Amino acid sequence: MESIPVNSIEFEYVYVANQRCSCGGYFAAVRQELRQGPSGPVDHLIARCEGCGAERPFDFDIRSFFGQWEKYGRFRQTEERFREAMSQLRAGRLAEAERALRQVVDAEEGEPAFAWGHYHLGCVLLLEGQAEEAQFHLEQAVAIQPLEPDIHEALAHALQATGLAKAAQSHLQESVALRERFSPQ
Ligand SMILES: [Zn+2]
Repeated sequence: MESIPVNSIEFEYVYVANQRCSCGGYFAAVRQELRQGPSGPVDHLIARCEGCGAERPFDFDIRSFFGQWEKYGRFRQTEERFREAMSQLRAGRLAEAERALRQVVDAEEGEPAFAWGHYHLGCVLLLEGQAEEAQFHLEQAVAIQPLEPDIHEALAHALQATGLAKAAQSHLQESVALRERFSPQ
């Protein structure tokens, strides 16, 4: 299993809670264990789907902060940036929202595996006419959370804007299929 890069313990739980099971339910962490991986310490989390009860393990690469107490609790800053970005977005201030979202997904200062950060950054960039960079961030969001219809739909818009109509079509179909699959009966 490939380790997921994280910059805080709090984000491990956010990451897990945003992961969707094939049944449509979301995961919640139930057990945690510190392991020694070949290249450093790994946080091994066992999560359970709140829909069907299926268990899934997650490995987080915690090398960036392990043992450095001053870096613990950094997620508070990332969360604040994210909230700030959302309020800038609601106010229509795209440049300010973009700046905050770049900090949210920053590999050093933020959380690079935060799919909703990449998603909103991609949407903002698309509104600003920067389709290629929007596509880059939306592809990352899809890779992290492949079962979210909204992310596939946004990626479809970006691909359309960069002239990749065929790929756009396939992500649009995926978003429709996922919405159908997970909608309450
Ligand atoms: Zn499930």
